[in-house]
Amino acid sequence: MLCPKCGKEMKKGFLCGRGYNYFLPEGEKAPNLLSKKILEKKHAILLPPDDICIAFCQNWPKAFWCGDCKILLADYSELME
Ligand SMILES: [Zn+2]
Repeated sequence: MLCPKCGKEMKKGFLCGRGYNYFLPEGEKAPNLLSKKILEKKHAILLPPDDICIAFCQNWPKAFWCGDCKILLADYSELME
């Protein structure tokens, strides 16, 4: 995968985290309290794994990192319909 900013080859790995992971569209304020309902109300896109799957440390998206630009690209295509 090439970096969309500088065009150099990106480092391959996985994007990991704990708790809810989500994409928040521009213009929406991040909620203080996290629940699926609140996030959906803010038009956030919930990203796998969800809070239940996290315990098993599976279903992390493949990710690519550019150290020069500090850009992370995450591929959720195999984890979401
Ligand atoms: Zn780059």
